Amino acid sequence: TTAAEPLALDNSYLRLPEACYARVGPTEVSQPQLLRLNADLAEELGLDAEALAAPEGLEVLAGNRVPEGAEPLALAYAGHQFGNFVPQLGDGRAVLLGEVVDRDGVRRDLQLKGSGRTPFSRGGSDGRSSLGPVIREYLVSEGMAALGIPTTRALAMVATGDPVLRQQVEPGGVLTRVAASHVRVGTFEYFFRRGDLDTVRALADYVIERHYPEVAEAEQPYKALMGAVADRTADLVADWLLVGFIHGVMNTDNVSIAGETIDYGPCAFMDDYHPATVYSSIDRHGRYAYDQQPKIAQWNLARFAEALLPLISDDPDTAVAAAHEMLDPFQDRLNARYHAGLRRKMGLMEERDGDEDLALDLLARMAVQRADFTLTFRRLADLGREPSENDEAVRELFADPADFDAWARSWRDRLAAEDSGDEARRAAMRAVNPAYIPRNHRVEEAIAAAMHEGDLRPIDDLLTVLADPYADHPGYEHLARPPRPEEVVEQTFCG
Ligand code: AMP
Ligand code: MG
Ligand code: MG
Repeated sequence: TTAAEPLALDNSYLRLPEACYARVGPTEVSQPQLLRLNADLAEELGLDAEALAAPEGLEVLAGNRVPEGAEPLALAYAGHQFGNFVPQLGDGRAVLLGEVVDRDGVRRDLQLKGSGRTPFSRGGSDGRSSLGPVIREYLVSEGMAALGIPTTRALAMVATGDPVLRQQVEPGGVLTRVAASHVRVGTFEYFFRRGDLDTVRALADYVIERHYPEVAEAEQPYKALMGAVADRTADLVADWLLVGFIHGVMNTDNVSIAGETIDYGPCAFMDDYHPATVYSSIDRHGRYAYDQQPKIAQWNLARFAEALLPLISDDPDTAVAAAHEMLDPFQDRLNARYHAGLRRKMGLMEERDGDEDLALDLLARMAVQRADFTLTFRRLADLGREPSENDEAVRELFADPADFDAWARSWRDRLAAEDSGDEARRAAMRAVNPAYIPRNHRVEEAIAAAMHEGDLRPIDDLLTVLADPYADHPGYEHLARPPRPEEVVEQTFCG
């Protein structure tokens, strides 16, 4: 690569067996326009934000020019979609441009999503993305990152100038997605189901080296890998629950082996709390509802473990026993993190018997009273040891405020059992209970303004608060508020 090249890319994925990918570059677009470049992320990646935003860089982010030395690929994968195995999916509308090693020495994928057809494109599909889902993924994934939850990131969004045909004609877009890697549970399933155990082993070795180097030291690395992936996934899903996130399409092809949130399609952060909440327009039976996510994650991990069984032992009983040993702790680990998180959300510094019941009692009341998940916890921080007019801010979130009052009495009794100072408790609660989440109606509003009026201010406003979601942002209070009844978004859609 030359000094002028804004992106010097490696591609370790190329060193895997050839069946893992197809060599294919992005397809040109006619009038690329850079909508947003994530300068903070560029810096974190050790990239020159100015060079990326300049015409040379934009050409790369749009897919019109492959950086010198880069060898773009579409990755092969399979997956269980809503429980049904699909033997071939793969990057049908994305290419892996290559990898950069970030400031912390971590290797990260740069992928163009919406970059045109590949050998894995769904029959008849264009390999493109509409601009709406590109903006959506940018906003929601950056919001997730700032909440401190592992996720793919968004480096840039580009309007292509080319129309895409969906239900109607829409403007096209390309997202530059950054990921720890794009290896999914479905990547392993693809080779396992073809009986290609050599490639399963090569992939497992690749994943261990790239994401779980500590596992290499274990007596049985492949067995230890099952446990390591399960642990990260348990932590991830607990974190989702604690911020009210619903992924929406937890198919095995959308589960990252590195433990990141990936594939922001019909996902949503819930407003009113209810455990059975579903937003995804394609999830008719609630398979991926909010409270189903732990169970589904474990089911997905079982598909991963299944693919590794042949690497563990020739004796099926021995291999299955090993998988059980690695996956059985999953629910306990997830619950422990979830319950500890709920305790912190309630401002309890110490651990006491009954804390879990206290939290579950609050959630049960919130579900009946349709209380806003995010604001209930955020505003709870401002309540003192005695009832006061401050209580009103939480009470008003409950259809019947008396139901909250009853809980608040138990909560205050419990607070009295430990001697944390009010100010310290308040600060601790504000640090774990965000004021801002990417609320559906605000995300939709920002998308509509950009697409129909070319107005990017709502996107910038949202990014401003989402970048620092645990702070108050005077002047942006409207972005913290739940939707009014006429603003509620009932459904979210796939890209
Ligand atoms: P997703 O619903 O995004 O998880 O995608 C499921 C599969 O459909 C993946 O293999 C995608 O690459 C493929 N796919 C989705 N949209 C398109 C498109 N517009 N063109 C080609 N393939 C697509
Ligand atoms: Mg996907
Ligand atoms: Mg409400």
